[in-house]
Amino acid sequence: MIGIMAAMHEELNRIVALLENISEEKVARKKVYSGYLNNQKVVVVFSGWGKVAAATTSTMLIERYAIKQLIFTGVAGAIPSHLNIGDIVIGTSFVQHDMDCADVLGIKRFEIPLLSLTEIPSSQSMQQKANNAVQKYLTDDIKTDVKKEELAYLNIETPSIHNGLIASGDQFINSSEKQQELLKALPELLAVEMEGAAVAQVAHEYGLPFIVIRIISDKANEDSHIDFPRFIEKVASHFTAGIIRHMV
Ligand code: SAH
Repeated sequence: MIGIMAAMHEELNRIVALLENISEEKVARKKVYSGYLNNQKVVVVFSGWGKVAAATTSTMLIERYAIKQLIFTGVAGAIPSHLNIGDIVIGTSFVQHDMDCADVLGIKRFEIPLLSLTEIPSSQSMQQKANNAVQKYLTDDIKTDVKKEELAYLNIETPSIHNGLIASGDQFINSSEKQQELLKALPELLAVEMEGAAVAQVAHEYGLPFIVIRIISDKANEDSHIDFPRFIEKVASHFTAGIIRHMV
């Protein structure tokens, strides 16, 4: 069984629409959808927003549905200026940017207390699968799947794929000051969001292979000119469902 967690309802709906033999169950205030995708048994759920929601939801999938792999999808803010809206980030490692024990007991900034870890890597084989799936989506499907005028409205030509570090914290980052501070502290950082590193910690503790795929929705600064709901509904959710279809 593969677990799929989506951070946006629009993405979740499009993934659920791909399922066959679907059944649903309500667990801990969340609707959990079980079914088959490409003849593979999957369980799909909305992750919630923030690290606690992502941690409880992934734990629930592991404990109750005995998932053997976890795929997480959502949107994220870009940190370096060469990343653009519509680009796809595949997380290879994850850090909690708001974890700070302030050197008390010798624990450094970003270090997860008692795990003695700062960055948690995702599964290499799932990174490879995700790269192949994204590549296939961009080559074969994007033109028929997403309206030309929606891509043009967002100035998206060909989205590029980036592999690297993602930082998560319980905060929507929308100031260049905070963005620059994070880039200084974590020079390799590609994107910020609110769930990935929590999923990574749970997966690490349970020994579960996982991957996080994020579509860039904003530049983590003040000028968020785009129509967020329109971007999610008309663009990002299509990317996500298409990528998942190629991955599973
Ligand atoms: N503003 C949106 C809400 C997005 S909420 C709205 O009103 O609908 C948060 C989701 O966006 C989370 O899943 C988070 O991981 C992701 N996200 C996207 N850009 C982000 C950023 N710049 N900082 C933090 N999280 C971000």
